[in-house]
Amino acid sequence: MRLSLSVLLAALTLIASTMPLPAAAATPAHVAYYDAAYRATFKPGAQHAQVELKLSGDKLPSRLILRIDSKRYKNFRSEQPLEVSDKEVVWRPQGQQATLHYEFVVNHQRASGSYDSYSTDSWALFRGDKLVPSTRVTAARKLRSRTTLEFDLPKGWSAATPYPSAGEQRFRVEDPRRRFDAPAGWMLVGKLGVRSERIEHVNTIIAAPEGDNARRQDALAFINWNLPKLLDVFPDFPKRVLIVSAGDPMWRGGLSGPSSLFLHSDRPLISENRTSPLLHELVHVALGIRGDHESDWIVEGLAEFYSIQTLRRSGGIGQKRYDQAVDNLKKWAQRAPTLFGKSSTGATTARAVLVFQEVDTEIRGATGNAASLDDVARKLAAKRGEISLIELQEIAQQVAGKPLRSLQRERLTKPVAAPGP
Ligand SMILES: [Zn+2]
Repeated sequence: MRLSLSVLLAALTLIASTMPLPAAAATPAHVAYYDAAYRATFKPGAQHAQVELKLSGDKLPSRLILRIDSKRYKNFRSEQPLEVSDKEVVWRPQGQQATLHYEFVVNHQRASGSYDSYSTDSWALFRGDKLVPSTRVTAARKLRSRTTLEFDLPKGWSAATPYPSAGEQRFRVEDPRRRFDAPAGWMLVGKLGVRSERIEHVNTIIAAPEGDNARRQDALAFINWNLPKLLDVFPDFPKRVLIVSAGDPMWRGGLSGPSSLFLHSDRPLISENRTSPLLHELVHVALGIRGDHESDWIVEGLAEFYSIQTLRRSGGIGQKRYDQAVDNLKKWAQRAPTLFGKSSTGATTARAVLVFQEVDTEIRGATGNAASLDDVARKLAAKRGEISLIELQEIAQQVAGKPLRSLQRERLTKPVAAPGP
């Protein structure tokens, strides 16, 4: 599943708002830090969480602008100057300590009617980059945040986040590319069942509400077999990945986020069409790319290609079942007259998988099997961020040593021929 537009926009805003550090970043001697401590309080069954952001240090940022949806964030309060409108909150911290309070409405319904954020009497599931609205910070260049996220939870509750622990229910939020580190990715708090295991360099954590249908042990075993094959392609996979699951009324599919993903507890590890929703989302985590206005097919096609490929490489499916999966994709692909569009649906993604199969064959042919699509995918994962067809063509050409016929725009915009009998 691709990220929803709002999530995408939020992510883009987050990136735009927290300017990437230049290559020649100030040396540590010239860097000054202030503490940014987020504290989120959850009560069983409450529709909202109370969130506090406390800044402290010798020098603080002069201004924070939070982009908000007034339906999701309420009751902003601070003793420092604060302007609140429907779309934006402008906060001007003063002195050496400043505190901002607000309420975050946890429940959020997608257009389909299911939820991508939800709270009950015994758990709450949400994204960190929703708990905290996207924030643009104005501060001296040398000034950087040391961010933590702490949860104040009912007795018996715990928290699972993509971040390493820094004390009880407390996490260190680090993003070396930003001056202001803000929480991101999937998070689950409540009465939880958590299993974790180190698989090669990846600390893999699976969390679901206690008593939920999620098959944590099965999923962990499945990842144990498959993740090493994925790591062969993506050696820079995050050191920590959090997988959170819950049942209805949550979205009945998978959704990826930074170093984390959500998967509905009823989804099988391998579906009837020989694809794996869990592996699909893990590939999204590995790649960390998003399409430009017309190239979602690249993102979804690669996620699905490596979902099926990884199963084949790990022995999870044999050659015969792999061939059947490809035959299914061929039938399905005919329903996609072009690959380009804002979001890649089933038929478009099926067609995109076949394109990547051709790209793989073409690269192997051009290089005498010395290179493959894996090299392209690895370069994309190193680049991350937005991807267009032209960038994909360029990277593929670098790997193959020549332009690829399989990625010619004209071929990708024409309907595909019906498969032979
Ligand atoms: Zn997807």
